[in-house]
Amino acid sequence: MLGKYASGLGEALIALFYPPICIGCGDVLTSGERCVCLPCSMDLPSLDFRESDLLVRERLPECPQMLRGTALYRYRKGGKVRKLVRTMKYSGRYDLGRFFGRELGKKLQREGCGPELIIPVPVHRKRLKERGYNQSYWIALGIADVLDTKVLEHGLLRTAYTDSQVRKGRMERFANLKGNIKVADREFIQNREVLLVDDVLTTGATLTECGKALLEAGVKSLSIGVIGVAGD
Ligand SMILES: [Zn+2]
Repeated sequence: MLGKYASGLGEALIALFYPPICIGCGDVLTSGERCVCLPCSMDLPSLDFRESDLLVRERLPECPQMLRGTALYRYRKGGKVRKLVRTMKYSGRYDLGRFFGRELGKKLQREGCGPELIIPVPVHRKRLKERGYNQSYWIALGIADVLDTKVLEHGLLRTAYTDSQVRKGRMERFANLKGNIKVADREFIQNREVLLVDDVLTTGATLTECGKALLEAGVKSLSIGVIGVAGD
């Protein structure tokens, strides 16, 4: 309860400090719009259910038991989605995470997805200190606004600090993460329907490790939700 109140307060503060302009094009937002204007939203490369499930599965071959994979958009180098995700991650705009989370929540609802728990991909506490927030947690909160489901903020833990994965190759990313993800409370998540949430799915290294950890811990089902999935 306090969490929801505090995050609502955070959003109000952001509204105070940032003018109501679209993060995509810089136009003034209308009263019903938040973060991204309607024309910009309509212009994003959205995916239908089948496409997004196929693309997510293609990137996570080590998690074939996955119940459902859902992505809002295609994520391309130099694309609009990438620009927005970078603003969300590196420019303090965690409110954009919640905005995207609500959009993702609506899509999941249309798909009939009703998880019992939403677990965000964790960031190491050192990175959390640098950045100030975990964008995946904010996406999870946005989904929970729509699906009315619990968010387990620290359901997964990152046990070792790794350098930014951004400039690393695929093999190196996988090697770096091996054994670095732990389930905080195995008993609590056993036999639960879990939705694992991240901002983007590119090489799949992080989501593979997180997904495998949850499956090994005995979740009833695992679904994956992301804002963007890489693919042409
Ligand atoms: Zn716009």
